[in-house]
Amino acid sequence: MKYEQERHLVVTYLRRLLAARLTTGSGGNISVRISGTAYFAISPTGITYDVMTPKDVVVLDASGAVVAGKRIPSSEWRMHAAAYATRPDAGAVVHTHSVFATTFACLREEIPAVHYLVGFAGKRVPVAPYATYGSVELSSHAAAALAGGVNAVLLANHGLLAVGMDLNAAFGVAEEIELVARIAWQARAIGEPVVLPDDEMDVIIEKFRGYGKQETSGAASPMVVSSQEAAETPDAAEGTA
Ligand SMILES: [Zn+2]
Repeated sequence: MKYEQERHLVVTYLRRLLAARLTTGSGGNISVRISGTAYFAISPTGITYDVMTPKDVVVLDASGAVVAGKRIPSSEWRMHAAAYATRPDAGAVVHTHSVFATTFACLREEIPAVHYLVGFAGKRVPVAPYATYGSVELSSHAAAALAGGVNAVLLANHGLLAVGMDLNAAFGVAEEIELVARIAWQARAIGEPVVLPDDEMDVIIEKFRGYGKQETSGAASPMVVSSQEAAETPDAAEGTA
């Protein structure tokens, strides 16, 4: 089977997504770049994770043409393609409807630095404007937000999109941002959380960068984010209004 390793990874991480309660049913989608190419292996639509095999995973080129596999790719393939085109450093993309991150997305509010782990994404997690799922508009909005250098973006009234240098890193971003969203929600339930200042987040992001270098196969190696990269994009600013 062509691209066996990458297609196997997609199935493995879809099951982890379910186990980590970052999605329900057959929701969410995952892709991994075929190293050194514009191709990516992406989850198919309409197959539950318990019966899915690597053969069901589809490999697409940047335009969405099928390179390998017989299934219909995820309806969000455009958003994955746009993420790879915008971020050459991204080796994998994870999209979830995880409940706490999506709660902020429905409020169209960024997730602030109430906890330093937001550094997995950047100084904050911005909100991309709303567009219908699967649409070209949605992929453009998501890519514009990712172009600012953040590793995660909220999709208004929809969910979360995370990128990483590999699938392990992208999954780690989705998992940690869900935790931060939950903490932010809980903290606001009983008070007004203190948000870490940008200069402290610069320090955190720099520490994560070093960690990522040392722990190349670690469980949670965040992708490199520079201090400027995490700056708000116009889309992010709109989301905070
Ligand atoms: Zn979705």
